[in-house]
This record gives sequence, C-alpha cells and structure tokens, in this order.
Amino acid sequence: MGRAGAKGHAQQLGSGLRVLWRRVAGPQSSAGCMGSSNRGGVGGTPGRRALLATCAASPGYTAGVGAAEGSGPRVCILGGGFGGLYTAVKLESLMWPRGTKPQVTLIDQSERFVFKPLLYELVSGAASEEEVAPHFAQLLGPYPVTFVQGRVHSVQPEHATQDGGSTGGGVVTLSDGASVPYDWLVVSLGAETSTFGLPGVKECALPFSTYEDAQRVAARLQLLEELVGYPEVVVVGGGYAGVELAAVVAERLRGRARIKLVTSTADILPGSPQGNREAAHRVLADQGVSILTGAQVTEMRKARAGSSGGLSSGGSNGASSSSSVGIGGAGTAVGPDLAKRLVYVKDRTGQQEVLEADMVLWSAGQAPATKAAAQPPPGALKLPFSTNSRGAMQTDATLRVLHHSRVFALGDVAVSSGGQEQPPLPATAQVAFQQADYVAWNLWASINNKPLLGFSYQHLGDMMSLGTTGGAVTLPISVPPQLSAAVAAAGPLAGLLKAAGVKLSGSYGGGSDGVTLEGPLGAAVRRAAYLYRQPTLEQQLRVAGDWAQSASKQLRQVLADAARK
Ligand SMILES: Cc1cc2nc3c(=O)[nH]c(=O)nc-3n(C[C@H](O)[C@H](O)[C@H](O)COP(=O)(O)OP(=O)(O)OC[C@H]3O[C@@H](n4cnc5c(N)ncnc54)[C@H](O)[C@@H]3O)c2cc1C
Repeated sequence: MGRAGAKGHAQQLGSGLRVLWRRVAGPQSSAGCMGSSNRGGVGGTPGRRALLATCAASPGYTAGVGAAEGSGPRVCILGGGFGGLYTAVKLESLMWPRGTKPQVTLIDQSERFVFKPLLYELVSGAASEEEVAPHFAQLLGPYPVTFVQGRVHSVQPEHATQDGGSTGGGVVTLSDGASVPYDWLVVSLGAETSTFGLPGVKECALPFSTYEDAQRVAARLQLLEELVGYPEVVVVGGGYAGVELAAVVAERLRGRARIKLVTSTADILPGSPQGNREAAHRVLADQGVSILTGAQVTEMRKARAGSSGGLSSGGSNGASSSSSVGIGGAGTAVGPDLAKRLVYVKDRTGQQEVLEADMVLWSAGQAPATKAAAQPPPGALKLPFSTNSRGAMQTDATLRVLHHSRVFALGDVAVSSGGQEQPPLPATAQVAFQQADYVAWNLWASINNKPLLGFSYQHLGDMMSLGTTGGAVTLPISVPPQLSAAVAAAGPLAGLLKAAGVKLSGSYGGGSDGVTLEGPLGAAVRRAAYLYRQPTLEQQLRVAGDWAQSASKQLRQVLADAARK
C-alpha cells in the first residue's frame, strides 16, 4: 500500500531529489565517524546494549549553521519504525541555526528496523534480511543519532499541568531501569497484533507483524514442506496483510497444501481499489486458495494429539527439524507440535463450521502499542498521555500530543484530531513516513520559535505483493472515460497494455478511476517504490547493490544453462 501518484508523486520526487542532492553533494555522507560516546544522558545499567552511532558532522554539514554537536536540546524518539526512524533521519537533514541542532536519541526494543511491507519477501526468500530488516547500527552509522536498544516502560514529564498535561521535558524509563531524559519527545511505538481476546488465538495462530513473526512463519512453512501429508493452512483476515500472506504461502506450498483465506467481510480487500481486488482474486484463484467470506472466527483450539489424523514427520526426510516455531505453533524439546488447530467460524446465519489446520496465520487485527497503557497490567507500558477508545494517542493537526506541548506522536500509535471532520487516517507506512517529515519540521519550528505546520496527508496509491513475481499497484490517477474507451477500442494498444499488466480503469476508492499495474510489472514498480522509500541513501545504495548482484547471478545462471543446452 505505498504511494506514488500524479501531482503528489511529482512533489515527492522533487523533494526526494532535493534531499538526495543534499546528501550526495553535502559533506554529510562523507562525515568521518568519531566512534562511540554516550551522548544524550542515557543513564544505563552496566552491560546494557546502548549502541551509540555517533559520528561527527564535517564542518560544512550544517551549512550556514555551524552548530556544535551535542549543544542543542535533547530529542528522544520512542520507536524506530517508519515514524520514528524517518523522523530521526529527517531531523539530520534540516538546517539548524547555531546552537539549536538537537541531540537525537532513538529508542527501540529491537536491534533491527523492519520494513514491514517487505516482510512477505522474507518468507518467500525474494529479499534479503539486510533489505527487509537492517540493523539500526548499520543504518544510523553515518548519522549523529544515539541509538539505545531497550523496551520503553514509562514516561514521566517533569512539569505536569493541572489538566494532566505537561509543558516541559521529562524522563523515559526503560524496562531494565535505565533512564533517558528529554527536552522534546516523539512517540512512534507502532501497533501490535490484537486477538480481540478471542479464546485460543494466541495459542493456536501465528501472528505476522514483526521480524520474529516472519521467521516463525518461515520455519513453520519449512516444517510443513518437510512433512509427509497434505497440510492445511488457514489464513485469517481479508485485508492486505491476509491476502498477501495467503499468496506467498500458496506460492511456497504450491500444489502441496489446502489453503483457506477467512474473512468476516463480504469480500476480500474491502475499501481498496477495484483493480487491486480483481488482481488478488485472480492470483488466489490461480494458486488454489479458497476464500471464505462473511465468516467470523469465534474461537480456536488445539486438537488432542492423534485425534485428527494430521501430518507425520515421515522418516528420514522428515521433520527431525529444529521446529521451535514459537507462539501458536510452538515446538517442544521433544519435537515439533504437529497437533491440528481447530478454527471455529460462524457464518452470517449463525451456522458454525470447524476448520482444521496445520498452520493458522492471524492477520485480522492490530491495535496501537499504547492500548496497553490505557489498562496497564503490571509491567506494561505506562504513559501519561490520553488515548481514544482504540488506545491511540490524540494529537492536534500539527501532530503535537493534546495537552503536552513538547510531545509529538505519529504513525500507528497516533490519531490526529486535526480540528476538521476527517475520517481517521489508515495505519500505513505511507501515513507514518509522511508524518515523519512534519514532525521533524515541527520540532525544528518549535525549537526555533517558528509557526508549526498542520499535517496534510496525500494518498499516493495502493500497492500489494502477490507472490514472488506478482503484485498490484493502483495509482490514483483519473483516467477520463473517453480515454479508457478509446484505448479499449484501439485493438493493438489495448492488447499491449493488457499483456504488460496495465489496466486503465477501475473504481478508485471513492469512485474515481485509477490505473492498476498488475503481475510482474506491478511487482517491479512496488519494489522500485520501496527502494526509493528506504530510510537512508546509504541503505538505498546497499539494496540497489544487492539487487544488481543477484540479477547478475541470475543472468550468469541463465547463460550457463543456455551454454549447457
Ligand atoms: C505485514 C505487514 C505489511 C504491511 N504492509 C504495508 C504496506 O504495504 N504499505 C503500507 O503503507 N503499510 C503497510 N503496513 C503497515 C505499516 O507497516 C505500519 O503502518 C507502519 O510500520 C507504522 O509505522 P510506525 O512507525 O507507527 O510503527 P512501526 O513501523 O511498527 O514501528 C514501531 C517501532 O516501535 C518499537 N516498539 C514498540 N513498542 C516498543 C516499546 N515498548 N519499547 C521500545 N520500542 C518499541 C517496535 O520495535 C518498532 O520498531 C504493513 C504492516 C504489516 C504488519
């Protein structure tokens, strides 16, 4: 679901090129690393993993600025995903008046940034770990940003106001007891898988939202590939994540498994462009995935061992394997958990059906990470910010948290009240990285006493993967009906476009037309857009280098095969 369309696209491209030029032409990219030093007042416990990606800016880097490193206010960013990491990188690309350049600290529980839209490629093997989940150490190496690996436990503002808000800085406490003081805070902790409290889902199903989840799914798939029998897989959730996951699983187990996609809605991909929906239907049908619509999951259980047939480890080629597949599919010290999962679903008439599965994938729900802070069990996140009924932090139109003048929130964790009657923005990477630009800018403006900008979201299109070489991208470009009709009438041109996977019309969300690119063309455009959206120029170059290497390997293989023949 990335973006790239018409006017917005041109603007994005323009600003992208400007940033690119600044980075390439400016001395920042050649700044020498001065090694590690603990900046930002991180009060650490001994042995904690505080990676200090601290490099010196060369004299020209803060052009017209000349700020000494470490002299400005302390900006602490919680969560290094699309919101947090991109804010940190953007802050480094702004020009700061002398003495105001902030000392930026980024805190994340993981050692890796995860480019979630590419998680499917980790399962299919179509992208490397370095592309999908690079280490923060590598990403932030060239930037004067302090990275702290730790789980945020609580935030304590120093100057509380009577309405429960705050006007100054405060302290972030991590679960290992370490504290990080801040003058300005950015909260971008993302979303977590939600099972809506449905019985048995946590025990029986594998979620798909983190790097570790993707590894577990890949491990379970490998186990299913090794076993004797005809495995059954149930994917719950008919949104983009469920559909993309079903496609990648079906491709891996092609012809060797029964795969069901279960959704409570009347069709898959509700609210998405028709072109994407049609492409998804075609691919899933081609891969033999059956779709169960209007089906509400009510419960899951594990069948008692041996009670339900099931798979066997199949002797010598079987699953002696390393089958600890974690939550929902946990292996034990004595071997893999091969018990069938029973998925109880109810249709619209209240009729119940029980689906058996060797693997259940749960893609039916996400909730803001701050939801836990609303009803904290012991040890959960404790934040002093008010949240809405979904557990999302409320901000004004400038993405400043309500009643907390020094705190910003963005991405999946936040909802903007904006002052206008607008529907809530989708929880997408596209929203988060567009907001990151505004948060960085508004921090600059706040620190320099300039007016703040209201966030304005620009939808640039919807992208999805449909297996290793398939995809669909719908761009919100209006195609006049006369043009569509003229193209359709021009036989050879229509044939050419169809063969290339280009579809000129299809209702786009609210009813306007769009352009859908399908198949290998859609897949290529999606990957190229994600290359452009990598968090840093250095990472873009690394990914492009990987691509070039694997392309040349494939080419050599093709030539060698041809020569042999
Ligand atoms: C499988 C999948 C596919 C997706 N595909 C697309 C797509 O194609 N297009 C699209 O636009 N969007 C897609 N999305 C949605 C998109 O990834 C999210 O909307 C986006 O990542 C939100 O950015 P964020 O910064 O708010 O959160 P995230 O990117 O999730 O980052 C949050 C960070 O906070 C960290 N964190 C959380 N809690 C704590 C804590 N207590 N302490 C320390 N660190 C913490 C996490 O480790 C994480 O690094 C997809 C999501 C998933 C799960």
